[in-house]
Amino acid sequence: MQVAEKAIPVFEKTHPGAIGVFAFDNSSAHAAFAADALLAKAMNVNPGGKQPIMRDTVFDGQVQQMVFPDDHPDASLRGKAKGMRAVLQERQLWKERMIGFCNSNTPTSDSCCMRHVLEKQGRLYEPALCTSRTD
Ligand SMILES: [Zn+2]
Repeated sequence: MQVAEKAIPVFEKTHPGAIGVFAFDNSSAHAAFAADALLAKAMNVNPGGKQPIMRDTVFDGQVQQMVFPDDHPDASLRGKAKGMRAVLQERQLWKERMIGFCNSNTPTSDSCCMRHVLEKQGRLYEPALCTSRTD
């Protein structure tokens, strides 16, 4: 463990005679995100399926829901997560034949894939919101 091998010896050298109290947060990096955090990489291309129900966000000054409303004209979509395509279409950012994910860690073009277009806007993935802890 890094703390025992590095932090404590450093503390003992720099604070002779003092007692150090170390607090640990054992939640994994993944668990550091709230269950409804806005994360493009957790989204599917299409509505529903295995993807989290995310909280509302704000885009262009308007609240954008990440879930279809309970009075949606298509009853099969009501209450389901929208998925990346629908979110991009609502934002007028959808392009024909756009793929879900280009398999690159960094964007390969301005519209290489849905995930990167969403992440690039900084509206879906808001670091300040995503640091909220679940524990
Ligand atoms: Zn991409």
